Amino acid sequence: MKNTNEEILYTYKNKVYLNITNKCPCACTFCIRSKKDAIGEASNLWLNHNPSFEEVKEAIDAFDFNGYNEIIFCGYGEPTNSFDVLVKTAQYICSKLDLKIRVNTNGLGNLINGKDITEELCKNVDAVSISLNCSNKEDYLKTVRPKFGIESFDAMLSFAKKCRALTENTVLSVVDVIGEEEIEKCKKIAEDLNISLRVRKYDNSSDN
Ligand code: SF4
Repeated sequence: MKNTNEEILYTYKNKVYLNITNKCPCACTFCIRSKKDAIGEASNLWLNHNPSFEEVKEAIDAFDFNGYNEIIFCGYGEPTNSFDVLVKTAQYICSKLDLKIRVNTNGLGNLINGKDITEELCKNVDAVSISLNCSNKEDYLKTVRPKFGIESFDAMLSFAKKCRALTENTVLSVVDVIGEEEIEKCKKIAEDLNISLRVRKYDNSSDN
């Protein structure tokens, strides 16, 4: 069965999002995927298969981008799990549309792909937003529950560091449910890496 264009491309709070995969190596305790089937104007973000580039292109071609200035790889999965499609799609958008391109990621793309993808990623997008989520590896393991285990927190920080060296449009993010004290510790980590920290509201928590 084919995915519909609406499952691949959706809008939320006046922004356009691309949902290119449902695969994710994590099971964050706050992930909205376990609570509802979609967010924003989408009705269902569960894909019946990982869309090919051609399917993503079709969804982009069918959408009227008038009034939008940014497109975000996010959705119900980790975009770097479909890294080839992500790169091809970003290149297609860049050649056709006047839009900034952002990727919201859990920062585990190097582990997922078994190689360093930061250079190719940063070459093809305008901004990278990485989920920091916690201030230490033990809490990260309990909250994000990555399949790669304890090495994941350091791998995510290293990913963020590499992206920051390649683009100043690198941001770390946390969800506000972690509490003030933990947010302060995360601010310090971000400051030490010379990266801005974005504190997201919980209702945005599928936002990687
Ligand atoms: S919040 Fe993002 S990283 Fe965490 S399980 Fe959900 S899709 Fe994966």
